[in-house]
Amino acid sequence: MATHEFQTEVSHLLNLIIHSLYSHKEIFLRELVSNSSDALDKLKYLTLTDENLKQLEFEPRIDVRFRDPAEHGNDSEPATLTVADTGIGMNDQDLVENLGTIARSGTKEFLGKLSGDSRKDANLIGQFGVGFYSAFMVADKVEVITRKAGEDKAWKWVSDGQGSFEISPAERDTQGTTVTLFLNDEGKEYASRWQIEQVIKKYSNHIAFPIYLSYLKKEYDDEGKEKSTVPATEQVNSAAALWKRPKNELSDEDYAEFYKTIGHDSEDPLLHLHTKAEGTIEFTTLFFVPKKAPFDMYQVDYRPGVKLYVKRVFITDDEKELLPSYLRFVRGIIDSEDLPLNVSREILQQNRVMTNIRNSSVKKILGEFERLAKDEQEKYLEFIEQYNRPLKEGLYQDFGNRETLMELVRFKSTKVEGWTSLAEYKERMGEDQKAIYYITGSNEQVLRSSPLLEAYKKKDIEVLIMADDIDEIVVPSIGRYKDVELKPVNRADAGDDLKDEGDKEKAESSKDLVEKIKAALGERVKDVRVSVRLSDSPSCIVVDDADPTMQMQQIMKAMGQ
Ligand code: ADP
Ligand code: MG
Repeated sequence: MATHEFQTEVSHLLNLIIHSLYSHKEIFLRELVSNSSDALDKLKYLTLTDENLKQLEFEPRIDVRFRDPAEHGNDSEPATLTVADTGIGMNDQDLVENLGTIARSGTKEFLGKLSGDSRKDANLIGQFGVGFYSAFMVADKVEVITRKAGEDKAWKWVSDGQGSFEISPAERDTQGTTVTLFLNDEGKEYASRWQIEQVIKKYSNHIAFPIYLSYLKKEYDDEGKEKSTVPATEQVNSAAALWKRPKNELSDEDYAEFYKTIGHDSEDPLLHLHTKAEGTIEFTTLFFVPKKAPFDMYQVDYRPGVKLYVKRVFITDDEKELLPSYLRFVRGIIDSEDLPLNVSREILQQNRVMTNIRNSSVKKILGEFERLAKDEQEKYLEFIEQYNRPLKEGLYQDFGNRETLMELVRFKSTKVEGWTSLAEYKERMGEDQKAIYYITGSNEQVLRSSPLLEAYKKKDIEVLIMADDIDEIVVPSIGRYKDVELKPVNRADAGDDLKDEGDKEKAESSKDLVEKIKAALGERVKDVRVSVRLSDSPSCIVVDDADPTMQMQQIMKAMGQ
């Protein structure tokens, strides 16, 4: 027997889970079942692709059992709950790596984001997918007995979640994993048929493998009196690939429930999009947009939300190339009929079928956003509040869909409350206004009171307020909307629309003053000019047309340019 210490991050996470997820403790079962499902997916794939495992006897299933001491008339024994699967299993090394550390570096950042407000944190943690460690919310001891497919030895992992765990040799007849929770006071209510059934139906109904629940069935005599109990087993989930069912058989509730299963979210999605392509390339897609942006949307090692299946066999959920990165908030499934099962990452990235699926998926998703903008404006605003920024990245990244994206993005403006589209701005433009004007910076309020806007306000010219950090890169790269140029007001040549007759005279008469200021500032500025754009403030600093601004220089660096 060997004792191991948990990685520091694990101990930290355990602490947090136990203290802030308390009100959502039932999700431990979702996490255990989804781990079993992952393990079955992995083995199913190997039995189809790995010569050594093709012969393996494999009946994929998940079994849930419990022991309620009251049912046995013995309250002194602990209540237990067990989740067992016939999946890939783990050897001793896997156990140390998988149930002792946290691999993703994003986790640290995630931990830093938690506020200490347990309601908010619970939501965050739910999205993050707390996984296996959530078992310690309801158990004071967890035991894992597991045997890896293709290996003879079985192993036992035991921990009380207090800093260390033990691994020792064990027995198990077949490959797979059995997780047993010794339920604490918070958890003993889950040693109940009805509780378990309810939680599985809520979160795991669409797990693609059968989930069986064993319990003691009561038998009654003719007078309705309890006679005896017999062990019984019942399947509790529907175990069908929902995305393969016809749309007209599925309700919004079905979709929402499925989304919660795959999206680690307790809220309904903002929208779903289910499509089937038939023809030269056959595939089914089912996409969701979460109501709240995923917590890791702005992290480099964000977790991709789309799972790839080939003919209903799970292939990967860790492939960022399935959709362009600006759509990384989309969750869902792509199921292809044409890709080979043993498709590798390299193949995926240059495969013609995959490129076709990806392009058509992007078109469909953007099309759905367009429809939303048109038909469900309130919902579209909810969407914009969360995802306007990634869509702007799309303007920069996805040249082929730029026209569509330009209709989708929204901006703040000096003329309207809330958001405006470029189309609406263009509608409002005065007859001889030559450009769409915008101002960039890092704070909307500061921009709104910028002296650079004074003259535009006086002339009743609308200016778009752009306070997202990427605006300075994205907007100049677009150049124009339809046939109208986009012009930043903090550039030296902006203000064409502001000039009028008296300006030349003013410039002449100020010549001496300008020379004096130039001499005084010397090397610190590139030039000093008379401007028409200020009306109340005496002076301002602008950037030369040819120079990138400071902010832009920093962002280019961050984007690796
Ligand atoms: P995640 O599922 O997000 O990777 P978890 O904390 O839920 O994180 O699980 C950690 C790891 O432990 C899994 O990635 C997997 O390698 C392993 N694991 C957990 N449960 C099982 C199981 N039932 N069968 C095989 N491996 C498992
Ligand atoms: Mg998991």
